[in-house]
Amino acid sequence: MRHHPRGALRHYAGFLKPSAAAAIPVLLERDRAQRLRRLGAAVGDRTSQRLRPTRARMRALQLAPGTRLRWRDVPAPAPPGPGEAIVHPIASSTCDLDCPIALGATQFALPLHLGHECVAEVLTVGERVSTVKPGDRVLVPFQINCGTCTPCRAGRTGSCTSVPPASMYGMGLASGHWGGAFSDELAVPYADAMLVALPDGIDPVAACSVADNVCDAYRHIAPHLPALLDADPDAEVLILAAMSPRFQFGASNPLYAGLIARAYGARNVSLVDARPTVRAHAERLGLNALQPREARRRAPAPLVVDTTVDDLDIALSSTAPDGICTSAGSFHPSARIPALRMYVRNVTLHVGRAHTRALIPHVLDLMRDGRLHPESVTTSLARLDEAPTALREHFLGGGIKAVLS
Ligand SMILES: [Zn+2]
Ligand SMILES: [Zn+2]
Repeated sequence: MRHHPRGALRHYAGFLKPSAAAAIPVLLERDRAQRLRRLGAAVGDRTSQRLRPTRARMRALQLAPGTRLRWRDVPAPAPPGPGEAIVHPIASSTCDLDCPIALGATQFALPLHLGHECVAEVLTVGERVSTVKPGDRVLVPFQINCGTCTPCRAGRTGSCTSVPPASMYGMGLASGHWGGAFSDELAVPYADAMLVALPDGIDPVAACSVADNVCDAYRHIAPHLPALLDADPDAEVLILAAMSPRFQFGASNPLYAGLIARAYGARNVSLVDARPTVRAHAERLGLNALQPREARRRAPAPLVVDTTVDDLDIALSSTAPDGICTSAGSFHPSARIPALRMYVRNVTLHVGRAHTRALIPHVLDLMRDGRLHPESVTTSLARLDEAPTALREHFLGGGIKAVLS
């Protein structure tokens, strides 16, 4: 299945849809002055560096409508402040969301600097940074978080209140203009809080997606599965991904969820995907791969992982009595839920984003113990220099996961 990107007109016309309008108040819910200040400073810095350059230049991968990818020559980040660090990505991977972004089909406005999953080498640190030093290899969580606010101290790092909502790398203006991981340098604003040392013996190419998608998969499985398996060792984990072959998201999150469920001892893990290549990959990983029509005929499962984006109602209808449905979320302002069926079945629904920084050490433990091999999901490996052509082919060809190093 080859995807067809939206050109500039169709991409920008998408911003007239109600779903795009609904995103604005969500993003501006709090700290709107800080968000605007940050964007203003970024524009001012770009202009002043163009007129009177004072800093070195670097490469950053720019994505424009039509899945046009090219290296841009941009100012390197400013020297780090006291608690900050500058890092050099050495292995960066595509997030499942990058494909629809690259096709121009999301509310993330193009052009933007792409990439938000990486392992990096620390280049420079500010004078107050104590946990990492130049030369260290580190995971860089995709969410910006401070480590000191109340949610951060409680491990809810995805809800950090020191930065505006949804502050992230690699998603352009909407997420706060933090730069992309497919670049020579990345600024890390809270180095001690955010950066996690890569354990010895773990390959950066295997670990880079721990910065986002692997943790996203982990939070669907780890909090829920052990108790279910205690009650029934044959309890099924049902993972729903593409309900249509035209589905544009990558398939790494559902495949990682399957691998993590297996690592926790689940014997019965099914992955539903309309794309034959994804089903074949799932089978190779030891998962039970199903077409959507086969899944509809099956008994409901006690743990359902919903990565469909559009089909939460199917996921909830597939959840067994007293079961849990955990959803990776959607960009739509509302979704239909089968409320009566959920009530009668006592179904619990989790919707939301992962608290990535807090989860990274747990995922690294699984990798260090040899129980999880995220690299088995990767379908495309290339050198970072080849990013424009390798990623364009990956996105248009519906690849599962690309890693550049
Ligand atoms: Zn992502
Ligand atoms: Zn915080």
